[in-house]
Amino acid sequence: MLTYTHEPFTNFLDEKNKKAFQDSLSYVQSQLGKDYPVVIGGEEITTDKKIVSINPANKEEVIGTVSMASKELAEKAMQSALSTFETWKNWKPEHRANILFRAAAILRRRKHEFSSYLVKEAGKPWREADADTAEAIDFIEYYGRQMMKIKEGMPVQSRVGEFNQFHYIPLGVGIIISPFNFPLAIMAGTTVAAIVSGNTVLLKPANSTPIVAAKFVELMHEAGLPQGVLNFVPGSGAEIGDYLVDHPKTRFVSFTGSREVGCRINERAAKVQPGQIWLKRVIAEMGGKDTVVVDKDADLDLAASSIVYSAFGFSGQKCSAGSRAVVHQDVYDEVLEKAAALTKTLSLGNPEEADTYMGPVIDEKSFKKIMSYIEIGKQEGKLVTGGEGDDSKGYFIKPTIFADLDEKSRLMQEEIFGPVVAFCKARDFDHLMEIANNTDYGLTGALISNNREHIERARQEFHVGNLYFNRVCTGAIVGYQPFGGFNMSGTDSKAGGPDYLLLHMQAKTTSEML
Ligand code: GLU
Repeated sequence: MLTYTHEPFTNFLDEKNKKAFQDSLSYVQSQLGKDYPVVIGGEEITTDKKIVSINPANKEEVIGTVSMASKELAEKAMQSALSTFETWKNWKPEHRANILFRAAAILRRRKHEFSSYLVKEAGKPWREADADTAEAIDFIEYYGRQMMKIKEGMPVQSRVGEFNQFHYIPLGVGIIISPFNFPLAIMAGTTVAAIVSGNTVLLKPANSTPIVAAKFVELMHEAGLPQGVLNFVPGSGAEIGDYLVDHPKTRFVSFTGSREVGCRINERAAKVQPGQIWLKRVIAEMGGKDTVVVDKDADLDLAASSIVYSAFGFSGQKCSAGSRAVVHQDVYDEVLEKAAALTKTLSLGNPEEADTYMGPVIDEKSFKKIMSYIEIGKQEGKLVTGGEGDDSKGYFIKPTIFADLDEKSRLMQEEIFGPVVAFCKARDFDHLMEIANNTDYGLTGALISNNREHIERARQEFHVGNLYFNRVCTGAIVGYQPFGGFNMSGTDSKAGGPDYLLLHMQAKTTSEML
């Protein structure tokens, strides 16, 4: 098997690729409006209650509908996952991994088709959609290979006359609750990590992006995944989300989403229910309030572009987004001016157009929340550019910069999850680091600096899970920059890293007298 290297991004300047992507968009257009079932143990179940998935760039356009699972169906899915676990856990790790390799190959062949669903359903511009699909392929390839390594276990000592072994076994049934912002990559990554480790799962996708998840479930079965390993249960968080998190047979929950929901899941999962014979594990990837820090001695054009692209990629709807720029006072005005000028060149519009840089935000609730933060920004700081939204057709918000924020202001502390970046001035490098670390979160950060000593200090002092130097703070690559944060950003796990699968497993020691 080839060693793992990440899936290359598509060059859309090449006319051939551009045409192929446009053709895929037309194909997906012809597929819109279909109804997708709940899938339990291979049985496709259509229910009356539907999630209607719409195009956030064009509210009138329905991407498709998905049947919602009731509590009864969630229970049925749990029973299916429980009984399938008894056989799936005994599959050889390499046989489980082989299914992933086939799934990756199919996804690679249908790359633009899946990316087109991401354009339509999540409002991702081409580049972002392409990166999301590439990352999904990477997760699948990488975790398949990781499983082949982990199956050997870890070496332990044996004394004369005994034979000791230490290896990993699966946990049981996992609940996968995935987010809208990487509706393919994170949904697929969290799902296959659990599956390849030998667990069976119930997948509850984000309610704004269930169609791409339904397509992925189809693909996994096409790749040969036995029925019952991956059960698809779209539905309401309050109804089936809580029910499944509370369920005594749930062994672990893998969640990516907001801090609020993550904390709720963690708290509920901690309560031991009647009949429950383990402590549930929670793997949570929550929010971020990430900072691009600009030192006095820095390339100021690089600083401006790093701030702008970290802030506005996919309209700032990444937990890795650089939503704060903390800049040394000596270069503050210049960096702000350069960042504002660059921001004004970004095109906001229909993500189906090849040259759109930024599309809409995901839905009305997000639109309203972001617009209310823009109002807060006007009170707390100075609006430099953007600040306007238009939800007449889709949920569009201009890339927005606020300047002169107090380091403790709401704009500097609270996750907005939209195209808004707050600038804050610092006196010296100590002050830069102090502000960089002054939030409840600790996910990503970047330092733009040419000062060697400061780079090494930041490596020690800047308390984030993913720290970047002289580049953007988004765009971690599976197997290259394992991703996940500290403090309120989650459970300190690293998706796409060498120890990620172990979170879905437990170690067993055997000792035999010879
Ligand atoms: N892994 C993505 C990145 O590095 C962010 C994931 C997320 O926003 O949840 O940009």
